[in-house]
Amino acid sequence: MATESARSERAGGVSSLRGLAGGGVFLPGDEEYDRARTTWALAVDLRPAAVAFPTSAAEVAAVVRAAASAGLRVAPVGTGHNAHPLGDLTDSVLLRMSGMSRIDIDPDARRARVEAGALWLPVIEAAAAHGLSALHGSSPDTGVVGYSLGGGVGWYGRALGLAANSVTAVELVTADGSLTRVDAEHEPELFWAVRGGGGANFGVVTTIEFTLYPIETAYAGMLVWDLRDAHRVLSRWARWAADAPDAVTTSYRHLQYPPIPEIPEPFRGRQLVIVDGAVLADDAEAERILAPLRDLGPELDTFGRVPAATLARLHMDPEQPTPGGGQSALLDELPPAAVDRLVEVAGADSGSSLFLAAELRQLGGALGRSQPGAGAVARLDGQFQLITGGMMVGEFAKQTVADCERVVDAMAPYSRGRQYLNFQEEAVDPSTGYDASTWDALLRLRKNADPAGLFQANHEIPHR
Ligand SMILES: Cc1cc2nc3c(=O)[nH]c(=O)nc-3n(C[C@H](O)[C@H](O)[C@H](O)COP(=O)(O)OP(=O)(O)OC[C@H]3O[C@@H](n4cnc5c(N)ncnc54)[C@H](O)[C@@H]3O)c2cc1C
Repeated sequence: MATESARSERAGGVSSLRGLAGGGVFLPGDEEYDRARTTWALAVDLRPAAVAFPTSAAEVAAVVRAAASAGLRVAPVGTGHNAHPLGDLTDSVLLRMSGMSRIDIDPDARRARVEAGALWLPVIEAAAAHGLSALHGSSPDTGVVGYSLGGGVGWYGRALGLAANSVTAVELVTADGSLTRVDAEHEPELFWAVRGGGGANFGVVTTIEFTLYPIETAYAGMLVWDLRDAHRVLSRWARWAADAPDAVTTSYRHLQYPPIPEIPEPFRGRQLVIVDGAVLADDAEAERILAPLRDLGPELDTFGRVPAATLARLHMDPEQPTPGGGQSALLDELPPAAVDRLVEVAGADSGSSLFLAAELRQLGGALGRSQPGAGAVARLDGQFQLITGGMMVGEFAKQTVADCERVVDAMAPYSRGRQYLNFQEEAVDPSTGYDASTWDALLRLRKNADPAGLFQANHEIPHR
């Protein structure tokens, strides 16, 4: 009975959102509700009280105010790439920012100003038209806001740091429904908090501004071996990665491709080791840096000078909504025993599922150093980022979860339990994303900014 009355009270409150966002509000029972609630993460079955697609900051503010009056929470998302840990949305409005995707590049100031629904690829291409690059990641279709305000580890990371620390201003609708601009001079504490503490813990970001870098080309590509070479390659890569100059950022991956026509040669039906990445140096220096890896005789070597914008697709990340998921961990080191274990649990004879991907991102360099004026994630406290993932639907889901767990557990001795939350697709203790004093400050600021817990974030900082 109590549930019944709660349900009808909620239905009454939710209906007050109808007509907002220029009619772009969809409620359960509406024909378009299922399409509206489906995000990039196809394996995540979000069932919000309502879905809203605002097209302006004023529409965002109107939805935030109406949700607050109706006793609903607000969960803003860009694409849904990290929708997995969002949690129960029964009493929440899923605020989808895809209708706000304007991109402005100021080539003289080397600055981009983009709306919160902007995806990386069009931003990269707009910047490249002026000979400029941004600190984007491996995926062309992650949202600029979610990626950047969660940290942002990309191909220029070891040279230029986390994307969050190149953010220069953010405009957001706060819990009282007002639009606020935060930067180094205005609301500096909030500006610090959003850069790593994630936007949705403090409001709905409508616009983000960030520095662009004069990078027109990079020495980038991939080296490919059969998965049977994993031990030999990982042993070398792990030693090399720890001492490599900051100019280079790479990833080491085990990938297994099904034997289906959609997968192009030379990847179809293969189990492979792939090292890909970028070097910000002239050709001679880049070749010197990569020589220890090339000496391992890859069967494919595509490294060479390329336009910077092509790095958006270097990693071959999926560009359509995908039914995937996985787990991750920050690792301190990869000694020989760790290499043995990783190959044992994710190598050719590991018996892991066809779709398991096990990846290590090379951290350190500028990603490991705090810079003056940095945000809440000033640096990543680890040498390597472990990422595991696979198909999370139907018959594959159980095996993917087991495979991912096996790899993360095997690497646990090399981790202190710290997380880079952007890559964490499970709900984890969010304090693991921060050092103790940063976490205390984030808790205080979240309580100040959103005492009623109006905003629902993927990795949520408690509001009480
Ligand atoms: C295939 C793939 C490749 C990836 N590659 C990289 C990589 O190279 N480097 C890296 O660092 N990360 C990478 N990631 C992780 C990625 O950075 C996170 O998934 C990030 O959260 C994506 O942001 P999004 O806005 O697209 O996702 P969403 O799921 O839409 O958003 C994630 C969270 O960001 C917050 N948010 C989003 N928009 C707003 C807004 N307008 N206002 C307030 N809060 C908001 C919310 O808390 C939301 O829950 C990758 C993920 C995938 C799936």
